[in-house]
Amino acid sequence: MMKPCGCLFVISAPSGAGKSTLCKILLERFPDICFSVSHTTRKPRSGETDGKDYYFISKDEFVKGTETGRWTEWAEVHGNFYGTSAEFLDKSLNAGNDILLDIDVQGTLQILRQYPDSITIFILPPSIEILRDRLKSRSTDTPEVIAWRLSNAEKEMAQKDRYRHIIVNDRLSETAGELISIIERYRSDKR
Ligand code: 5GP
Repeated sequence: MMKPCGCLFVISAPSGAGKSTLCKILLERFPDICFSVSHTTRKPRSGETDGKDYYFISKDEFVKGTETGRWTEWAEVHGNFYGTSAEFLDKSLNAGNDILLDIDVQGTLQILRQYPDSITIFILPPSIEILRDRLKSRSTDTPEVIAWRLSNAEKEMAQKDRYRHIIVNDRLSETAGELISIIERYRSDKR
């Protein structure tokens, strides 16, 4: 495999830890970093746009993709399939672009096998109690779904040491600042 030219930043966090907001801040701060839009079999949530938040595809199309090598990595998360396009990733990295992946722990471990120099970042909530409160206050999920997300969160958090950087998201602005300085450091080292 050719050594990729761009930096590959991989961010994971349990749901409710603030990852989507942080990714949005990063992409505004670094408009030249390409966000890898994943493919998923999950139904769009209100306000989500196909091609921007995700490519929403059928389960048949997804499964076919697993058989044809369409995904660099893929995983089943919360009962739905998610995958990263191999074509997008290879082309973008080889063109020298820096990429941001927002994927789960299973996907990160697959990425690390193929791109061991990836800069992996795990975002932790300040505590599991605070995560529970955040998930409840979002009021988008039923109590059963919240309980399931919390149990997944604990499993994901148990793997945080597989990541190069671990950041506790206590105050959003401070966490964003830490993330920005990590990214700036790697980008300037590359130049
Ligand atoms: P959500 O459905 O809430 O947008 O995402 C659920 C989880 O799936 C999040 O942890 C998110 O990081 C993860 N995810 C999103 N896209 C991908 C992907 O392409 N691959 C993997 N492995 N996980 C993904």
